[in-house]
Amino acid sequence: MAENNSSSLMEKVISLSKQRGFVFQSSEIYGGLKSAYDYGPLGVELKRNIMNEWWRSMVHEREDVIGIDASIIMHSKVWHASGHLAGFSDPLVDCLISKERFRADKAPRPQPKDELPIECADKGQAKTYVEAIQKRFNIELKRNGKTLYGMKVIDESTMGFFPDDSDKPMETFPYRGYVSPTFGSPFLSDERQFNLMFRSQIGPIDVLGDITAYVEKNKELDGKELRTGIEEIVKKSAVYLRPETAQAMFVQFLNCQQSMSMKVPFGIAQMGKSFRNEVTVEHFIFRSCEFEQMEMEFFVEPGSQKEWLDYWRDRRMEWWQKLSNDPSKFRYRAHEKDELAHYADACYDIEYEYPWGFDELEGVASRTDYDLKKHAEHSGAKLSYFDQQKQDPETGKNGWRYTPYVIEPAAGVTRGLLVYLLDAYHEEIVPNADGADSSRVVMKLHPRLAPIKVAVLPLVKKEGLPDIAREMVSGFFKAGINARYDEQHSIGKRYRRHDEAGTPYCITIDGQTKEDGTVTIRDRDTMKQERISKDEALHVVQKRLVES
Ligand code: ATP
Repeated sequence: MAENNSSSLMEKVISLSKQRGFVFQSSEIYGGLKSAYDYGPLGVELKRNIMNEWWRSMVHEREDVIGIDASIIMHSKVWHASGHLAGFSDPLVDCLISKERFRADKAPRPQPKDELPIECADKGQAKTYVEAIQKRFNIELKRNGKTLYGMKVIDESTMGFFPDDSDKPMETFPYRGYVSPTFGSPFLSDERQFNLMFRSQIGPIDVLGDITAYVEKNKELDGKELRTGIEEIVKKSAVYLRPETAQAMFVQFLNCQQSMSMKVPFGIAQMGKSFRNEVTVEHFIFRSCEFEQMEMEFFVEPGSQKEWLDYWRDRRMEWWQKLSNDPSKFRYRAHEKDELAHYADACYDIEYEYPWGFDELEGVASRTDYDLKKHAEHSGAKLSYFDQQKQDPETGKNGWRYTPYVIEPAAGVTRGLLVYLLDAYHEEIVPNADGADSSRVVMKLHPRLAPIKVAVLPLVKKEGLPDIAREMVSGFFKAGINARYDEQHSIGKRYRRHDEAGTPYCITIDGQTKEDGTVTIRDRDTMKQERISKDEALHVVQKRLVES
């Protein structure tokens, strides 16, 4: 089998996604919208299959998890309580030289004694940057081609200018602990907060009218005062597109627990769209502004969170690996203390080895009782749980009322779809009809994820073969299996097309079908063809899908 060259794997997957109808650039005919993607005829099926598999394993197959489907726009107080309005913001920094803007928490972090070379795009830019640095900081960095040298980290908060490899710095500057990702520049602005939530206004009254009237009436105010006044007007009808699905599970904790008589430990799961005004959108569908999540909040007794965190980390890892070809490309990464979100006491990332290296696919966080307590405080609702069977550890009396702790496995659907496309992409050298070597691209998607489970192909478009094929297809539909009738092009081309679509089984109807009621079933991965009875085909496919 030919090796996938990882540097070009991404381009190949992006190109196949377009050609075969998995993922298209949004609004492509208008030049495209950078951060948005459309899932095509095969992509929509793949996305739904990933979500259905998740729902099946997280909700249907578990007695201790129930599902909800909440609205995307929630009461603004939800976001005040959760801290998203105040803090759903990532620190943003500008490079003072290149003007590159980036997220501080994602930036490279050179350590004490490390050099701080600035990598420019070309020699011309390097010259401009030397001049800009000289003008602003009064030091002259050494230029070698397109790289600028001379800066070094001294300690966690200081960097120095060391001209001509000297041991002592000629000048020192405050060091922020990181450099700009593209250029490696350590000359940075202060960190600024930037709200990642998409804001809109609810209600029939046009807020612009109120703003205009306010500005006309308050011409004497300065910029800062005007802004404060305008913010007050906007705030009254402001609503936000949810940046995560999780908050609905906290807000509906009591309704869910009481309506389904759930006992702790139990979970509430949800899948759906989330929106983030991301500063950088990158790597195709890996990070976009509109994306889909599959999240579950699992409510546990205080003190048992560590055990449940490990439990869910392992279940979620097993799930990703089971549906992949190469489980070795997944790994855990425990968050360092200084990396933890303010509400978490521990967190693991499930990472995948993307063509650019290991990166996040799912976060499994121990969120403490932070969210339920915050919503209880802000709403006045009693978001707690009473366990009649337990003793209150403080009073020793029977019956314990407590605020449950929460374990949250939070995965990205669209990021998962990218992972499974990368995992599925294979190039192979296989014999053609004449026995000579030929290459094929095959998407080895897990049969349960495959957009089309079975393609039914009449060998020719006559002699009644199409009717037999169509009848078989409708039999598959009745059994809930997505099948596709396909009569376009030669049989060889049709097989190749379905290899690229990831269709695990192709059933061919030929002359012999009319004589003895048999068809051939071709396996996508082994390319082996077997003759089976037409009447048994549904059962054979069903069995293979269940056993896959
Ligand atoms: P990252 O560090 O990559 O920005 P995050 O830690 O902010 O992700 P979470 O808030 O934990 O992400 O969201 C859970 C999951 O949702 C992530 O693991 C990822 O799979 C998915 N996700 C988050 N942001 C995006 C995005 N902008 N585009 C696509 N998927 C996303």
